[in-house]
Amino acid sequence: MNVYDGERMGEMLDAEGMVATSNPDDADVVVLNTCHIREKAAEKVYSDIGRLRRSDGSSPTIAVAGCVAQAEGAEITRRAPSVDVVVGPQAYHRLPSMLETAAKGERAIDTDMPPNSKFGVLPSRPKQPRPTAFLTVQEGCDKFCTYCVVPYTRGAEISRKWGAIVDEAKALVDGGVKEITLLGQNVNAWMGEDDKGREQGLDGLIRELDKIAGLERIRYTTSHPNDMTQGLIDAHGEVESLMPYLHLPVQSGSNPILQAMNRSHSAESYLAILEKVRDARPGIAISGDFIVGFPGESDEDFEATMAIVEAANYSQAFSFKYSPRPGTPAATMEQQIPREVMDERLQRLQALLNRQQSDFNAATLGKRTQILLERKGKKPGQLVGKSPWLQSVHIDGANHEIGDMVTVDIISAGPNSLSGALV
Ligand code: SAH
Ligand code: SF4
Repeated sequence: MNVYDGERMGEMLDAEGMVATSNPDDADVVVLNTCHIREKAAEKVYSDIGRLRRSDGSSPTIAVAGCVAQAEGAEITRRAPSVDVVVGPQAYHRLPSMLETAAKGERAIDTDMPPNSKFGVLPSRPKQPRPTAFLTVQEGCDKFCTYCVVPYTRGAEISRKWGAIVDEAKALVDGGVKEITLLGQNVNAWMGEDDKGREQGLDGLIRELDKIAGLERIRYTTSHPNDMTQGLIDAHGEVESLMPYLHLPVQSGSNPILQAMNRSHSAESYLAILEKVRDARPGIAISGDFIVGFPGESDEDFEATMAIVEAANYSQAFSFKYSPRPGTPAATMEQQIPREVMDERLQRLQALLNRQQSDFNAATLGKRTQILLERKGKKPGQLVGKSPWLQSVHIDGANHEIGDMVTVDIISAGPNSLSGALV
């Protein structure tokens, strides 16, 4: 979602006549788009601000955007006086005028949360540099998991309008995009009315986007188990452009911990959803998120997490040590878990998840499949694309270019990527 926001901010500044540079020393303006989800991510912004100071003591105009800006607001300018602009994730359509304020030597701070307004104001999507794009369809969260800052930094759950999403998708496809990933903090909670006034869920939206000529692949992320409707599960079996990949975080395999997290699903109900999804789309890649060391997590609770991983069998997953976030209920819960215990649990969990990822990759060996070429590889002539299951596949790309959809046979499989031979 931050990548998407960063692109939209960049496109907006482009439209103002600014030009992007990859060298911070050349920049008149640097926008740091920040994440507040874990402490480590949030602290990074302060070291990055320090690094922007130049040898002559000057610094560019610095804007801090994103969820750290939202959560810490004016506090940022006290800790880092060189910051000129602080803009939250719901207010970044005002960035150009805030930069004008900064150019007059005044500080500009805006952490308002006007519902839905930024999307109506942002310029339409220009030609894209890549064949894949993100498209935010839903923002915010009403679920209030007890460890999580998102409901506070991104605000209440809102769904963008059907027509606006379809228009943006068409603009992206006109600009050369072949694969769109629909984004939301709880993307499968998306709901709205279609152009005939009928209530629709994410599955209806996906079926509509599937009709866009030239849009070959649709993905969506990230989903909450409680919003995994039968309609969406069915779509996985019926919509060909919907890729066989589902990111469905569970966080923990222990029911008492899930309850303390306020996840409102159980280990069993989660596994039951996976079973239905796999029935609808055999071979679908399942990925997830895990938190180890949530307050009160006993050895037994952690073993339940290892057990759910064994049962779920992931193609890849993200796992984190619990990070107490200011203002969330879990931060003040008793029985915070010592760092060494978290470290040990994370290592064991990641070893298991890595093994599953390697096994999943190995199982694609010998398969014939299509990949969408996304970027150059490290070796001369090499191109890298993504399989339907979101694996990176390296090929010898002579006679092909980025953006091509090609058929390959998978000829080798490592833990992190595959190699393919063109058919
Ligand atoms: N809405 C999504 C997740 C958004 S946050 C969902 O509910 O699945 C992305 C991931 O960050 C979460 O799935 C969780 O695993 C992790 N996360 C969130 N808050 C965290 C915290 N305080 N400490 C560690 N990991 C956290
Ligand atoms: Fe955070 Fe996701 Fe829970 Fe919402 S559902 S509070 S975004 S972890």
